[in-house]
Amino acid sequence: MIGPIPVSLVRCLNYDPDGVRQSLREALDPLGGMGALISPGHKVLLKPNLLQGKPPEKAVTTHPEVIRAASLEIMEAGGTVFIGDSPGSGSLSSVLSKSGIAGVVEDLGLKVVPFRTPVPVSVPVGGVYHSIELAGEAFEFDLIVNLPKLKTHAQMVLTLAVKNLFGTVVGAAKPSWHLKAGDSDHMAELLLDIYRTVAPGLNILDGVLGMEGNGPGSGAPREVGLLAASPSALALDLVVSSLLGVDAKENPVLRRSMERGLPGSMPEQVKVFGLSPEDASVDDFILPASYTRVDFSLPDFISGPLKRSASSYPFLDPSICTTCGICEGVCPVSAISLFDDGGGDVDKSICINCFCCQEMCPEGAIRPVAGSLLKILKRLGVA
Ligand code: SF4
Ligand code: SF4
Repeated sequence: MIGPIPVSLVRCLNYDPDGVRQSLREALDPLGGMGALISPGHKVLLKPNLLQGKPPEKAVTTHPEVIRAASLEIMEAGGTVFIGDSPGSGSLSSVLSKSGIAGVVEDLGLKVVPFRTPVPVSVPVGGVYHSIELAGEAFEFDLIVNLPKLKTHAQMVLTLAVKNLFGTVVGAAKPSWHLKAGDSDHMAELLLDIYRTVAPGLNILDGVLGMEGNGPGSGAPREVGLLAASPSALALDLVVSSLLGVDAKENPVLRRSMERGLPGSMPEQVKVFGLSPEDASVDDFILPASYTRVDFSLPDFISGPLKRSASSYPFLDPSICTTCGICEGVCPVSAISLFDDGGGDVDKSICINCFCCQEMCPEGAIRPVAGSLLKILKRLGVA
């Protein structure tokens, strides 16, 4: 791309269908409109955030009206719209139905594409990985339009446009990748390689109703009133992360992207249109309890109980847990032992702090809890 990468920020206070469509058009204007990306006859894949089957007011999934507005713009430009994902839990059809998106699919005649077939896909030169197994179905389109939801994330601090593409990893392979990647910096490297491989042509962030606190599955809905759009998922994340008060160095995806020198990772490579960053900034956005500042790290020789007390681990609340067993099933290291009457133990000596359990718990019964040393360090402002 020649010149600065555009990122549009547009106010959108609610999900009134006409209002969302108007805001989306405003957001796409500086990018040349949808017609600049789509020619008649193009097959276009929408990739929303379909983590779990939750109603729109829970802010877990991309809102149906954002999907409707994006679809109408694509159809008006002559494209045919497909919608696909591999949800964290539940089938694609059940998540579409519970999230209210099935109504839009039916109204507009969208074609549904479950991501089922893992195929090895080469990562462009310069990646950490040479090849990653991703859903083959995602690579059958002229254009991918990424439709992330603005949310917090216990392991990655935020889930925005880059993280949303982890949905192209098929089903049960997701926890295995967490195990392979290990910590959040290595996970960020994987996400960046997936982003460069999937290469969405357009990213539209649903930040009208976002999620703060212990996201991405069970945080608190937060009215942010924002739609953002950019041809670069990374540039979009860079701008929005800053609006939410998360410095790029404290966001693993952005930190690693800067170190790799990826396009869109530096503020001087980006031009913001629409709202000024000052007008769009979000006051007192609540980050996950597991969040620590980047300059906090213990020396390598400190390990065992001391290191564990300086980290965050999942807590299973027995008063909410229904003993469904999903967390046990997704834990890549089998660290969870459930109790018969609800709740359970986490073996901290093997837990890798991926928070897949918290992300997938359908009841919101798991939350990150800082160890005693970490609590003290946070109070002192050094973590
Ligand atoms: S903590 Fe959540 S995922 Fe785990 S068994 Fe209980 S309800 Fe299910
Ligand atoms: S207990 Fe939870 S956070 Fe720990 S490794 Fe298992 S899934 Fe990840």
